[in-house]
Amino acid sequence: MVVAELRHGDIWWRFARDEETEGPRPGASSGRKLLRAFAAVSSPASAVSFVRRFGPLGLCREHGLPGCIPCGYWPRWGALPRAPAVRDADGTEYYVESLDGYLFFARFARAALRIAAQLKRGSRRAPEDWETVDELVEREAQREPVLGPWVATLGRMRTNLGSSGEWLALVFALNLLAMRCRASPSCTPRADYSKHGLRVTGIELGIEPDAFSAIGFQLINTVARGKEIYLCSYCGALYTPARRPNPNRRNFCDDCRAEGIPERLRSRDLYQRKKARSADHLSAAGVPEP
Ligand SMILES: [Zn+2]
Ligand SMILES: [Zn+2]
Repeated sequence: MVVAELRHGDIWWRFARDEETEGPRPGASSGRKLLRAFAAVSSPASAVSFVRRFGPLGLCREHGLPGCIPCGYWPRWGALPRAPAVRDADGTEYYVESLDGYLFFARFARAALRIAAQLKRGSRRAPEDWETVDELVEREAQREPVLGPWVATLGRMRTNLGSSGEWLALVFALNLLAMRCRASPSCTPRADYSKHGLRVTGIELGIEPDAFSAIGFQLINTVARGKEIYLCSYCGALYTPARRPNPNRRNFCDDCRAEGIPERLRSRDLYQRKKARSADHLSAAGVPEP
C-alpha cells in the first residue's frame, strides 16, 4: 500500500508505514477493473486516488513513461525505480512520477475505447479523440524520429481510406503503446505448509504483466474484441475465455486445457493432500515419519 499526494505538479508516493495501513491490502485486480479505473482518471485528484487504490504505474518523472531506462527505471521492474527517491523537508523519502503521464495515458485509453466503439457502431468519431491518438504518435516521434512522418501519413490514411484508414491508424497507435507493455517471467518458491513447518520443494514460474502493461493489454483487447483477457494459471499466456472464470480458482488457456493440464494439477493436489493427511495421521499415532 502506498501513500500518494500531489506535490509541485507531480505525483509523490511512498510505501505506507504499518501504522498508516488500514484494513486488508488490496488483492490482485483484474485487467478490466484496472482499465475501467484508469480510464476514469481525468484530473490530478483522480490520478492520485488511482495510485492510492491500485498502486503506482512506475512512470518516470521527466517523460511520463513506464520502464524508462534513461530516467533510471528498469523495464520489468514495475514501479520500483532505480533512481534515488526525493526527500521532502522533513527528510521523508518519496518516489516521484509524472502526473502528465497518468493524465495523458488515461486520455489515450478513453480516446481509443471511444473511437473503437464508434467505428464498430458506425457512429461519428470526435475529432478531439483523434487528436489524442495523434498526440501519442507525436510524443513517440519526439523520442524516435523515424516515426515523425507517420503523424501526417496516419492523417492522410484517415482522410483517404475512410473507416479502414481509421482502423489502421488506431492499430498503429495501439502498437506503439504495446511496445511499452511487458509481461515478465518471475519465479516464486513452490512450498508445502504442514505442521512440521514450511518446506520449499521447487520453483514455480509465473508470467505477470506489471500494472501499466496489464492496462495496455486490457485496452488493446477491449478495442479488438470487447472482451476481457486473463492470464493462464499454468503457462502464463494471455487469453480470452469463452466464459468468465471464477476469480478464486485457477483458470487455463485453451492450449493447456487441450493438454489436460487442469486434470493433471487436480490429481497432483489430491495426491499431496492425501500424503499430508497420512503423515498427520502417522505422527498423531506417534509413528515417526519415514
Ligand atoms: Zn524518462
Ligand atoms: Zn496455458
